Amino acid sequence: MRRRILPRFFFLLATVLIAAEPQSKPLTILHFNDLHAQLEPKPDGTGGIAYLAAAIRREKAGCRSCLVLCAGDFVQGTPVSTVFRGVPVIEVANLLGIDAATLGNHEYDYGWRMVSQYLRTARFPFLVSNLVDAGGKTAAPPFKVLTAGGLRVAVIGAMTMDFRGLQTPDHIGPWHTLPVVETVRRYARQVRPRADIVVLLGHLNPAEEDQVLRDVPEVAVTIGGHTHTGFTEPKSHDGREMVRVRSSSGELGRLDLQVNPAEKNIVTSKWTRIPIGKSSIQPAADVAKAVAQWEAKVTGMMDVPIAESRRAWSGADLKALIERAIAEETGSDIGFCNRGGIRAELPQGTILVRHVWAVFPFDNLTVKGKFRGSQLPAAVTAGRTIDPDRIYTLVTNDFTAANQSQPSQLNSTGLEFPEIGPLQRDLLVEWVKKKKILE
Ligand SMILES: [Zn+2]
Repeated sequence: MRRRILPRFFFLLATVLIAAEPQSKPLTILHFNDLHAQLEPKPDGTGGIAYLAAAIRREKAGCRSCLVLCAGDFVQGTPVSTVFRGVPVIEVANLLGIDAATLGNHEYDYGWRMVSQYLRTARFPFLVSNLVDAGGKTAAPPFKVLTAGGLRVAVIGAMTMDFRGLQTPDHIGPWHTLPVVETVRRYARQVRPRADIVVLLGHLNPAEEDQVLRDVPEVAVTIGGHTHTGFTEPKSHDGREMVRVRSSSGELGRLDLQVNPAEKNIVTSKWTRIPIGKSSIQPAADVAKAVAQWEAKVTGMMDVPIAESRRAWSGADLKALIERAIAEETGSDIGFCNRGGIRAELPQGTILVRHVWAVFPFDNLTVKGKFRGSQLPAAVTAGRTIDPDRIYTLVTNDFTAANQSQPSQLNSTGLEFPEIGPLQRDLLVEWVKKKKILE
């Protein structure tokens, strides 16, 4: 009996809902964030931009009112990004049919002038409302009103206020952030009369995301990025929604909305996370071809001789060599490199770029901090004469800094490394190049 009543009940309910909301229109937002140059699938078979492209195209087919949005951090994370300073990622991303994106902090990893190049290269608009120069000019347009189906969708971009702390000063040049909530509200109010709904593309930290959701009623939907773990459920507040998916082309988000243009709010919403990878879909052939062309160039760049070594380096000797290199290259007193972060030996004879990449396959960034001699952990003072009252500069990598309490790292707590520098691997390549002979 119950089985026969339920479908009838839902039919009636649907009729009532449709009758109550004659004004609502559909809007589907396909979204991803923190691509981090993951053009090829990861070793575990997940991700890959040709697979992401195929999923986007499949979801867009038959979708009457669809937008593709990216919440920042396209570049940095794989050799093809490092070698070509992020450009391949933007060029391949042009094939994804992106309608708008915001800038991520990692877009500044190769210096702010490269961001100008990304803006010129991209066939989609980058948007950011709260990243400005001394004159108050935004690094990209603050917002854009897109059309999807019959809807005018205002999209605003925003950057985390952690921006400065996540970059070196020479990388960010004249750009600094304005308060997120205040600035986004200002633009949202400005654009609302011209839009049926306001969407924020937020490259924000989790606290900022929550503030936006709570304190910016003008924004109906926030597409998040920056934190690499996706949500399992959308976050909601007062009828407003926030979503974010996993990084590195591992997921595509699909947010299906019914929007009430008169109220500029959401009537209904449904969020789906679509896993991306080799096992789930065939890659888009044109995107796979573009990726293969770029990766082939990188393969060529890896086999470039940069020095001669009189001997092979491994174990404690290699660790000492690397620590000397990162200290000299950053003008620090002491370098520390975790043993586990060194993944290969350096051979005797010709040293290629490839050999250094094999030593440092991880994209660890160098980090620097200043400490009194008495504060320095035993892991870095062993075998040195340390003046307990002198201030020393210690350079290590962001992984070690974040995991410093582990015995394999610094076996310490509370050490702050406020200066974040380039990839540790890039520093080592530069140092080896300058040395020419290792002995
Ligand atoms: Zn980020």
